[in-house]
Order: sequence, then C-alpha cells, then structure tokens
Amino acid sequence: MTLPVVTLPTETPSIHSDDQRQHLLDWDQSSLSDWLKEKGQPAFRAKQIWNWVYQKRATSFEEMTNLPKTLRDELDRAFVIFKASQSAITSSPDGTDKLLIRLFDGGEVECVLLRDGTRRSICVSSQVGCAMGCVFCASGLDGVDRNLSRGEILEQMLRLQSRLQAEERLSHIVMMGMGEPLANLDHVLATLDVARSPEGLGISPRRITISTVGLPPAIDRLSKHGVAYNLAVSLHAPHDELRTQLVPVNKKIGIKAILDAADRYFDVSGRRLTFEYVLLGGVNDSDDCAESLASLLRHRTAMLNVIPYNLVSGLPYKTPSPKSISRFKEILVTRGINVMFRQRKGSEIDAACGQLRRNRQA
Ligand code: SAH
Repeated sequence: MTLPVVTLPTETPSIHSDDQRQHLLDWDQSSLSDWLKEKGQPAFRAKQIWNWVYQKRATSFEEMTNLPKTLRDELDRAFVIFKASQSAITSSPDGTDKLLIRLFDGGEVECVLLRDGTRRSICVSSQVGCAMGCVFCASGLDGVDRNLSRGEILEQMLRLQSRLQAEERLSHIVMMGMGEPLANLDHVLATLDVARSPEGLGISPRRITISTVGLPPAIDRLSKHGVAYNLAVSLHAPHDELRTQLVPVNKKIGIKAILDAADRYFDVSGRRLTFEYVLLGGVNDSDDCAESLASLLRHRTAMLNVIPYNLVSGLPYKTPSPKSISRFKEILVTRGINVMFRQRKGSEIDAACGQLRRNRQA
C-alpha cells in the first residue's frame, strides 16, 4: 500500500526584501566577535550566539536568555537569523521531507531531509538554478540565476535540522541539491567550515559529500583546500560522445581530465571517490555502457552509485525497466566494481533536484 504524500503550503513570514538587516548566517564567528566588541560586549558573546543558533536551534534573539535583554534587542535590530521563507513542505511516508525555500529576492531552492535508520542526512542546494545544462535534470532547465551565499546554504541546513526531534542530530550532508557546488566553491567551502566546526553543526568532513558535474580546476582547488570531504563525480556516461550529449559542459572538459583531477583528489585526501551514474532507459543503460564503465573504474578506489532516473515532467527520459537495471548491475558486479544502486527514497516527493520547484511552477 502506498501512503499518500502530503504537501502543505507553509508560507512562513520572511523578511521583506528592503529589510536592511544583515543575515547572521553570513557572518563568521570572528567578524561577529568584532561587531560585539564595538558594542562593548565581551568576545565570548559570539560563541554564545553560535551555540544558540547552530546547536540549540534558536530562530530568534529573544530565545537567547543568557544574553542581556538590551543586547538581544540590538542584535534584532542589526541581524536576522532566517532571511528566507519556507514556501512548501512535502513529506513522504518513508521519512523524507523536502522543503521549498523562497529567498529574499523571490528565487527558490530546494533542500531535503532523509531519515534512514539512525542516519539523518540532508541534501542542500548551492545555486538558484544551474548552468551545467544536464539534459535530464529539472534544476538547470532555465539556466542559473545566481550563487547562494554562505548564509543561504546554512539556512537550508538549519531549517532541516529544526525538523528533527530534540534528541536527534544531523549526521550527513550532501551538496547534491540544485546547482553546481564547484561553481560556487568559495561560499560552499565557507558553509562547510561552519558545518564541520564543533561550534557549528559539528559534522565530520567524512560525512560530508560534495557532488560535482566534474570541473577539474575546482577539483584541484578542493585538493589544495586540504579538508577531506567526500567527492562525488556525476559521470553518467563512460565515453565522451555520450557524456557530451547528456552533460553539455563535458564538451570542453572531457572524461579524462575529470578522472585525472578526481585521482589527484583521491591521492591528497585518501577518500574513496564516488561516481554517480543516472540510469536513463535506452540511453546509457546498454551492456556496452556497463562494460566500458567497468573498464574506466576497475583500477580506481571508487564506488559507483547508480541512480535510476526520477521522471521529470516534460522531459523525454525514462527510468529503465527492473530487468535492464539488474542486468546493468550484474555486469558491473561481475567485473568487480564496487557498485551501489541507490534506493529511490523520496522519489514520490520529487526528491531529485529541481523537481519540486518545477512542479510548483507548472
Ligand atoms: N551539479 C552537481 C550536484 C547537483 S545534481 C552534480 O552534477 O553532481 C545531484 C545528482 O542528481 C547528479 O548526479 C545529477 O545528475 C542527479 N540528478 C539530476 N536529476 C536527476 C533525476 N531526474 N533523476 C535522478 N538523478 C538526477
């Protein structure tokens, strides 16, 4: 029996676009500390505020009862904690919640909370829209509007965290929502600094994954950054001709340059690479594709994550039949590839990126 999926319009108050207040989540602790110092406050106040926001899940300064009332009022005049609003929540019986977030300028992005055993994973967006143009993906159909700020990415994380029970903790983060994280790398890295900081969300880099279409110079920057996040590369095809059809940015890059950059990342980080492969019926699910994919990955310390396609209305791509999915899997397994077929968690609620936004616009 399939239980109904519940979509609720949940217009929450957002700050007005002409509100001049700063987005607190855009501020790092030392800048906040400087601001507080100017107001004659001791430096430890910044730590207290962070503790309230990131750990105690406070969404207003009023709740911060260990701060003097005058300071709380002053903070409220200068900052907002949440700058966006939540325009819809879709919850599915498998424990997946998807939020549609309306940004201060009217742009919309999506983020998802997945509950799986003791895992509490979140998937967040890094851009409004996407410029990569993957032909099967809903996010990039209208191109990219802009990068999200650090605060806007962190706000998605905090809004999802606030959906947990008090005793539950976020355990994993994937940068796999709308947008190309490596095209907004400065803000993504600043966000993840807060996500992994013990004074922020306290999530180990080992539990944080950055998913990319494969932009070699940015992968090299990630290698130099020196924090061992997991890297997932969206491959989707084993040779350039097909990949360029599916992922147009591939034309100027090519699979070899991507794999070389990913190998360098592995050498520096020691983290096993993940390759993602969206399985599109009749397009990239042939025996030949499986064989070529196996040859590409055989000598790498890598995991292959095969994702049966989530239908996007208006696009011609299909999910392969269960028979062709298992055939594809069998070839890879026989060739010794470490392959995982991702559960279709959340597919009922359009959990593939960009779909909720698109369906609401339709
Ligand atoms: N731009 C990044 C991250 C966002 S997309 C990247 O390309 O990796 C995250 C993953 O979801 C990518 O592997 C993407 O190809 C996949 N995806 C996009 N639309 C999908 C759909 N309709 N069904 C299944 N997977 C999809």
